[in-house]
Amino acid sequence: MHRRDWFKLGAGAAGLPLIHAVAQGQAPPAFGPAGAAQGRRLPPLRITDVKTILTQPAGIRLVVVKVMTSEAGLYGLGCATFTQRARVVETAVDRYLKPFLIGKDPMQIEDVYQSSFVSSYWRNGPVLGNALSGVDMALWDILGKRAGMPVYQLLGGKCRDAVDTYVHTSGRTFQDVEKAVLAAKDRGFRHIRVQMAVPGLATYGAAGARGANDDIPPNRRPQVWEPGPYVRMLPKLFEHLRRTVGDDVELLHDVHERVPPILAMQLCRDLEPYRLFFLEDPFSPEDVGYFDKLRAVTTTPIAMGELFNNPNEYLSLISNRLIDFIRIHISQIGGLSAARKVAALCEWFAVRTAWHGPGDVSPVGHAANVHLDLATPNFGIQESRNFTQAEKDVFPGCPELRNGYFHATDRPGLGIDLDERLAAKFPITDDPPFDYRWGNYRRRDGTIVKP
Ligand code: MG
Repeated sequence: MHRRDWFKLGAGAAGLPLIHAVAQGQAPPAFGPAGAAQGRRLPPLRITDVKTILTQPAGIRLVVVKVMTSEAGLYGLGCATFTQRARVVETAVDRYLKPFLIGKDPMQIEDVYQSSFVSSYWRNGPVLGNALSGVDMALWDILGKRAGMPVYQLLGGKCRDAVDTYVHTSGRTFQDVEKAVLAAKDRGFRHIRVQMAVPGLATYGAAGARGANDDIPPNRRPQVWEPGPYVRMLPKLFEHLRRTVGDDVELLHDVHERVPPILAMQLCRDLEPYRLFFLEDPFSPEDVGYFDKLRAVTTTPIAMGELFNNPNEYLSLISNRLIDFIRIHISQIGGLSAARKVAALCEWFAVRTAWHGPGDVSPVGHAANVHLDLATPNFGIQESRNFTQAEKDVFPGCPELRNGYFHATDRPGLGIDLDERLAAKFPITDDPPFDYRWGNYRRRDGTIVKP
């Protein structure tokens, strides 16, 4: 077929003849450089290089993907942080995605996402999801830079002026936690997560009691965990907090799975009088079948999802209105392209967003969270991070946290950069705190605990 004939089948004018032509075994027109850019009278653009940058300015391994284009100086950044297995994500990007992507049109974000998603045939999972996210966020960043607009504008524009956040607090005693909550209120936070060590046991998210294993590095230290004392203590903590800090603050708690489903259900009921903003991750992802039973017995608001990989793990929870907040770790499910669809789906079922935002989301990932938060009508709350000075130096343009609100910059794209020379001064270590901790929680009898 002559090239002029392909113009007759051009994408804008005639989808049906194009499909017909492909069905006849004819090659489709070049899908790429001549596409979106031509319609907008911009020169064609192609991906010229893709690379991963590994750094840990705050001691937590971060993986960031940089996508370079044929336009001088035009590149994008995306978060691909799976801190526990950073080197595996690096391999997935550098050895497998990079050769697949070079030469493609970075403006065709959805097509790059869809084709990359199936390029491994087997898909989903934290490694491939994070690798895909690094590229996907970078393409949104490139699109914004080329359009001269912040990403939230490309997602539909601001639904709010700033992004309300929650902060973490913890302690070893009721009084410690009470002081931490009051201090967080004084810093301007309206939403405060509280965790507490169970005497004699390790507790996720709170400083554990000192013990005989203190000479072992924390990431390799055996951690003893029992669900019973924890679920009996927690209602007493919240009773203490409501009595001492009052009702003028929203309190949150993360169970982090780790308790048998029936105990999680009891806990949600026992906490009802204290009116939590949400209780997070009551069940392991393998136990999502309990959510309809939980909904039938309690009105404690439920947040769920940082371990989710696959849409089939959360679709029914959303469409059956079994959770109140979706907590997905955006880079885990493939980036902004996937997350904006999850947010839109949630809108129809009155589920609000509360994207995962701890230290093992890179500042680039936090910026993506904030842009999506700004443009999402059913936004609920954002987990905040108080970036260290080293993080701010390595990542100029970190979202700013003021009075408990995250603010995005109005710079084009995600509005954040990466100083590669400085990042290299914080090389990742092979024995980071997060890597082995999860495999070291055990019951008193030695049974491994599943998060
Ligand atoms: Mg959590």
